[in-house]
Amino acid sequence: MVAGVLRAEVRVLGIVQGVGFRPFIYRLAVELGLKGYVRNRGDAGVEIIVEGDEASIKKFIHHIETGKPPAAQIGKLDVKLMADKGGFQEFRILKSTEQRREVGSIIPPDMSICSQCLKEFLTPSNRRHRYYFITCTDCGPRYTIIDRLPYDRPNTTMRDFPLCSQCLQEYTSPEDRRFHSQTVACPVCGPKAFLTDKNGVKIRCRDPFLETGKLLSKGFIIAIKGIGGFHIATSTVNPEPVRKLRKAKYREQKPFAVMAKSVEAVNTFAQVDEVEEKILTSPERPVVLLEKSREYYLADEIAPGLHNIGVMLPYTGLHYLLFESARNEPALVMTSGNLPAEPIIADNEEALKKLAGFVDYFLLHERRIAQPCDDSVVKPVNGKPILIRRSRGYAPIPIKVNRELKRAAAAYGAEENVTASIIFNGKAFLSQYVGEVEKVEGIEYLERTIKHLIALTGVKPEVLACDLHPHFNSTLLAKKHVEEFKCQLVQVQHHHAHALSLMAEQGLEEVVAAACDGFGYGSDGKAWGGEILYCSLNDWRRLAHLEEQPMIGGDLAAVYPLRMTFGMLAKAGFEGAEEWLKSKTSLLPHGEQEAEIVAKMFRQGRFMATTSTGRILDATAAILGICHRRTYEGEPAMKLEAAASRGKKILNLKPEISGGVLKTSILALALAENLGRHRAEDLAYTVEEYLAEGLAELACAEAERLGVKAVGFTGGVAFNHHMVSTFRRLVERRGFKLYLNLRVPPGDGGLSVGQAFKAGLED
Ligand SMILES: [Zn+2]
Ligand SMILES: [Zn+2]
Ligand SMILES: [Zn+2]
Repeated sequence: MVAGVLRAEVRVLGIVQGVGFRPFIYRLAVELGLKGYVRNRGDAGVEIIVEGDEASIKKFIHHIETGKPPAAQIGKLDVKLMADKGGFQEFRILKSTEQRREVGSIIPPDMSICSQCLKEFLTPSNRRHRYYFITCTDCGPRYTIIDRLPYDRPNTTMRDFPLCSQCLQEYTSPEDRRFHSQTVACPVCGPKAFLTDKNGVKIRCRDPFLETGKLLSKGFIIAIKGIGGFHIATSTVNPEPVRKLRKAKYREQKPFAVMAKSVEAVNTFAQVDEVEEKILTSPERPVVLLEKSREYYLADEIAPGLHNIGVMLPYTGLHYLLFESARNEPALVMTSGNLPAEPIIADNEEALKKLAGFVDYFLLHERRIAQPCDDSVVKPVNGKPILIRRSRGYAPIPIKVNRELKRAAAAYGAEENVTASIIFNGKAFLSQYVGEVEKVEGIEYLERTIKHLIALTGVKPEVLACDLHPHFNSTLLAKKHVEEFKCQLVQVQHHHAHALSLMAEQGLEEVVAAACDGFGYGSDGKAWGGEILYCSLNDWRRLAHLEEQPMIGGDLAAVYPLRMTFGMLAKAGFEGAEEWLKSKTSLLPHGEQEAEIVAKMFRQGRFMATTSTGRILDATAAILGICHRRTYEGEPAMKLEAAASRGKKILNLKPEISGGVLKTSILALALAENLGRHRAEDLAYTVEEYLAEGLAELACAEAERLGVKAVGFTGGVAFNHHMVSTFRRLVERRGFKLYLNLRVPPGDGGLSVGQAFKAGLED
């Protein structure tokens, strides 16, 4: 061995494939005069061998960390130093190996068009000028195009497009920024886009994008195939097509997301602060819920009855092209292309079959989508971006879990906003948004997603985790997989899973958490949703909760919150309860008869009881005349929040607590007595304030009694800005630290993380 001449065998894990990592290593090694090779492995890791003088090798190792490409994340860097074997003439990028030893690495999420690509895209002399599929090692689709690992072109849906000589030149030139870029393509060799009518017949036009933009300005509805699935697009200033779209999608009130041309354009109809602008323009480019500005002028039908609107910015070349000819549109409706309660559509044929009933044209392209992926949705709450939906741009980046887990686990979520998770070795891999799983399309999508996640991470789950509800489709799927994967099953109570998701991401040993939402199956078989739980790594119990209220007709009471209101009034002993219900018969689908049945059911005690926070908010929205029928998940509570955002505290109600129960009957009485005497906005604010104060009081009292330092707030109600800030103020005043979900969605989109965490902790 020549003194000072070494060989280093390096293994890198993390997000190191699909982010320009090998080209970076190549350039670094060549620059330092090192010999050897770099190659991708089937476990999503990268293997490097370098030989050369000691000083250069040390520099090399140091620079792997400090100079890595922007999208790369290094989870583990193993270096073995030994004597130089002298086996290399030069440094090369070798063909990938299928070998996989390590598990837990993963490919990156889809990334929005980078500034360099955008510049080329806008430069007339560039050969990719206006080419929609422009990408580089720093940007473009990843998760949605990959069939299997390692991340090489033949394993992605780009394999259908052999490189032309110029692209090949770029791909093989170390000095080119598309050196070893797996998604490289150009107008000559890459996928092409085309416009069709609703029957799939191609429309002859000079430029399908310009044509689409023009058609959008004229008020047509167009299905557009993007990188992770279809969007349905239409005008935002013309209410007619929005109305038509609502009717066709059976979506009476649920807000549509819009895509705005630029931040300047957003500023004309919504308020954008510094934090929000940062999220809007981040490489993830999620939909951000922004407060409508006073000058809001987009069609009211886009987000009816709400104070905010979901806005995103263009994230591929295609989007920029649309705005070029849709000149008068500050933004376009860009809603997920699916049928009600079904997953996003990602296939041309399926889109033509399912959407032709209400879509006028289709803007299609030739690249297949391997994994569909919806847009992510973020809501700034208390100055922090909270994930409502963690999908494109985020999935499948793992979330760090600072606990040693005993087993690898896979989890299936609950019934709505479903995601899947795999937890292993201190990391939770949270899937893209799957959505509802009530229909067969949804449950099949969940099954594909979980199997894909298992294949990509290379983790073999030793235990599966699902909800406690015996009849959820996700529970049934988990039970089926128990046989198939030959492993155990753990069922986790819904609110316990919410609290665990918080513990997992925040690294907590124990917490007293308020877990508040619309519905979760309780361990006593009842409908829970306003819970104060104690939760540690191996124990949990229900400490306190909201008063049980009648839910007359079960699920019907969630759809028609007037039933909730009546139940609360009647339970509170309000004398005019039945009369009040009779005065609302026009708002009940079966009128007077229904009112009579509902009243009778109450008198006979024939109803379920619920401690749900969501149902109290619904009942308040109904009595205040804000919303009397739920057409989408969370609608009454969201509209109540919109009203409360313009309100102030009145009535001076103090939380009434006894025996660990926060009374809510007092709210029903206060509302009935003050109806018409005060503004609905102020009453809405007062109810939210009462609940937040009461929940904080319960949580703090229990935390003090048990000597627990950490207090948490989780569940779907954690999206309510007003309630979270009141809760925070009171908890901090009592000397506790408040923990919220920041990386995992606090709603049911984060449940699978909590479920998997629980299963992983047990042995
Ligand atoms: Zn780029
Ligand atoms: Zn080409
Ligand atoms: Zn929940």
